[in-house]
Order: sequence, then C-alpha cells, then structure tokens
Amino acid sequence: MTIFKKIIDREIPADIVFEDDQCLAFRDISPQAPTHILVIPKKEISAVDALSEEDEALVGHIFLVIRKIAKDEGLSNGFRVVTNNGLLAGQTVPHLHFHLLGGRPLNWPPG
Ligand code: AMP
Repeated sequence: MTIFKKIIDREIPADIVFEDDQCLAFRDISPQAPTHILVIPKKEISAVDALSEEDEALVGHIFLVIRKIAKDEGLSNGFRVVTNNGLLAGQTVPHLHFHLLGGRPLNWPPG
C-alpha cells in the first residue's frame, strides 16, 4: 500500500484541499512553489503507463478538478501540471499523481 492510499483512507494526515468520489487533492509535504498541490485518483493506478481505456473519463475529470483548484488558489497568471512517470522521471510514489505548481515564475525546460 502506498503512502497516498493511506492518505485516501485517512490513515495518515494530509492538508486536503478537495475531495470527491473519484479523486483527492492535498498540499505537497515538500512544496516546490507557493502553491504545490497533488491531485490523485482514489483508484489505485501506479503511473501514467498503467492507465487503461477505462480510465479515460477519470483523467479528464482530474484535469477539470485541477482547473478548479488553480482558480481557487488564484493562479490566474499561470500554473504548471506535472506528472512524473517512472524511475528516470523521478517518480517516488507509485500512485498516479498530478503536481499543480504555481505562485512563482516557473522555469522551462524543467530539470
Ligand atoms: P513524485 O516524485 O512525482 O513521485 O512526487 C511525489 C510527491 O509526493 C513529492 O513531491 C513528495 O514531496 C510528496 N509527498 C510524499 N509524501 C507525502 C505526504 N505524506 N504528504 C504530502 N505529500 C507527500
């Protein structure tokens, strides 16, 4: 069981900013920007490369949630959505998650 599943199940605490039947959003414990929120599906999917056709609507839903949270956080001047997939990308938690970053200028390309 991953740490994110434990957050979903309320076994460990998190600063939750949004929840519905399909997903959960909480502040990253090690924020890399003034706003750094993780949006995760409640369904246990390890990464982008584990997605299947049946997850299509779920991923679309998550992006609409990200859009709403970005608005709520006042990120009208811009924000970034990042998903790390696998070892070389630096994925550390094997539960699909979307980083929502904003509140400062974000450099490109990323590291
Ligand atoms: P990644 O490296 O893309 O897999 O991202 C994992 C993220 O989860 C990192 O930014 C961590 O800081 C964050 N993280 C790990 N444990 C927790 C936790 N208990 N609560 C909130 N964020 C966490």
